[in-house]
Amino acid sequence: MSDAASQSLPAHAPSLWAATAPPPPQTAELLESLKADVVIVGGGVTGLSAALHMAERGISAVVLEAARAGFGGSGRNSGHIIPTLAAGDPDALVAKFGPDAGERMVAFLRDSASLTFDLIRKYGIDCDAVQNGWAQPAHRASRMKLLEKRYGEWTRRQARAELLDAGEIAAKLGTDIYHGALFIESGGHVNPLALAQGLAKAAMEQGAKVFTGSPALTVTREGSAWRVTTPQGQVTADRLVVATNAYTGALIPALAKTLVRIINYQVSTHPMAADIAASVIPSDISSSDTRRDLYPFRKDRAGRLVTGATLALPLNMDSRIRPWIAERIGNAFPQIRDRRLDYVWNGRIAMTPNRLPRVHSIGPGAISPIAYNGRGMALGIAMGKELADWAQGKPDDALGLPKMEIEPMPFVSSLGRLAQAALVRYRQLDQRD
Ligand SMILES: Cc1cc2nc3c(=O)[nH]c(=O)nc-3n(C[C@H](O)[C@H](O)[C@H](O)COP(=O)(O)OP(=O)(O)OC[C@H]3O[C@@H](n4cnc5c(N)ncnc54)[C@H](O)[C@@H]3O)c2cc1C
Repeated sequence: MSDAASQSLPAHAPSLWAATAPPPPQTAELLESLKADVVIVGGGVTGLSAALHMAERGISAVVLEAARAGFGGSGRNSGHIIPTLAAGDPDALVAKFGPDAGERMVAFLRDSASLTFDLIRKYGIDCDAVQNGWAQPAHRASRMKLLEKRYGEWTRRQARAELLDAGEIAAKLGTDIYHGALFIESGGHVNPLALAQGLAKAAMEQGAKVFTGSPALTVTREGSAWRVTTPQGQVTADRLVVATNAYTGALIPALAKTLVRIINYQVSTHPMAADIAASVIPSDISSSDTRRDLYPFRKDRAGRLVTGATLALPLNMDSRIRPWIAERIGNAFPQIRDRRLDYVWNGRIAMTPNRLPRVHSIGPGAISPIAYNGRGMALGIAMGKELADWAQGKPDDALGLPKMEIEPMPFVSSLGRLAQAALVRYRQLDQRD
C-alpha cells in the first residue's frame, strides 16, 4: 500500500503504544479474488495468532482487517498479560462445564501467558515484553480470603503462583495500599500494539496473507465453502474464523447481539524522574487488584505509569477521566507529584452477562472466539493456536474455551449503557467486601 493510501485508513487510537511501537509490516488492501484454507475476519491478536499458527503448519490463511493490524482492543489495551479470567476461578469453571471441558479450560488459561511470551521470544517480536509476573493485590483485608482460595485452586492445577503478604506486595509495587496479593509468575506486560503488529509480521513471514483496509462486507455459504467479500475483493475458503470481539459489527448480526460493549480508558503519565520511577513498581510486574471496578498498574520502558479506568456516566468522558485518574495515582503512589498525562485513549471491552469468553459456531466450518471480558491478550493469542488445531480437524467443542450457543440479547445497546452504569454498584461493593 502506498503511503497516501495508508493515510486514508482510520488512525490508531492516540495511545502510548501507537507513539512507541516499531513500524508495522507493509500491508495492503485486498484487490483480488483469493482461495485459501481459512479466511479470518479481524486483525487483532486472536486473528493474527491464528494466522501465524496456521501458517506454521502449512494451512493457507487470509486475514481481512477493516482498518489496521491491532486497530481494535489489541492495540488499545493496557498490555497486561494475564493467565486468568476476571470472573471464573478454576473450581467454578469445572462445576459449570464439567470435569473434562472445565479442566481443559483451566489448563488453557493457566498456560496462556507462557504461550504468549514463548511466541514473542520464538519470533523475536519487538514489543517491550517483560515477563516478571502479574499480581492481583487485595484492596481490602477481607479480599485475602478470596485470594487464598484462588491461590489454592490454581496451585492444585500446577500454576506457578505465590500468596504474598502486605509487606511483600508493597516491596514489589512500591505502594502500601494493599493487604497482600496473589502472584502468578507467568504473567507480565507488553506494548500490545507492537505485539499485534509483530504477530502480523511473523504470520506474513510464515506465509499467511494479511490485508488491511479490507472490511468484510458479506459472508455467504457457497456449496461447501465460505465466500467473504470486501469492497474490492473476495476470499473463498473451506473455513471461516470471525475474530472481531468488541469490534463486532453487522457482518453476522446475531453475533453482535451476544455481547455488550463498555468503554474503558487508559492513560500514561509523563516519564517519571529516575528516582521516582525506581520507587514505583520496582519489580516491573503488572498488577490489577481485587476491585470489580478495574484498577490496573504497570510501567512502560521509559518509566511512565500506565493505568486505566471506566467511567459510569458516558458523558464528557475525555475531560472527566484526567482528574479521576490523577486522584487514583495520588492515592496509590503519592511519590508521583508530576501527574501530567502524556497519553489518554480508550477502547471497547466486550462483556457478557456471565463474564465468560466463549466459542460460537456460526455455521459448518465457521467459528467465532469472542467476549474475552477484558482479558483477551494472552487468551486471544492462545486461542490462535487452538484455531489452528480446529483448522486441522479438532472439534469446536474440544477447544480451550467452551462452545456456547449464540444467545442474542434484546436491546443490546441499552444494555451497554446499563453495564457502564453498573459500575456505581460495583464501587459500592468494592467498598464493602
Ligand atoms: C482499554 C482496554 C484495556 C484492556 N486491557 C487488557 C489487558 O490489560 N489485558 C488483557 O488481556 N486484555 C485487555 N483488554 C481486552 C483485550 O484488548 C481484548 O480482549 C483483545 O484485544 C481481543 O483481541 P481480538 O483479536 O479478539 O479482538 P480485537 O483486537 O478487538 O480485533 C478485532 C478486529 O476486528 C476488526 N473488524 C471488525 N469488524 C470487521 C470486519 N467486518 N471486517 C474486517 N475486520 C473487522 C477490527 O477493526 C479489529 O481490529 C483490554 C481492552 C481494552 C479496550
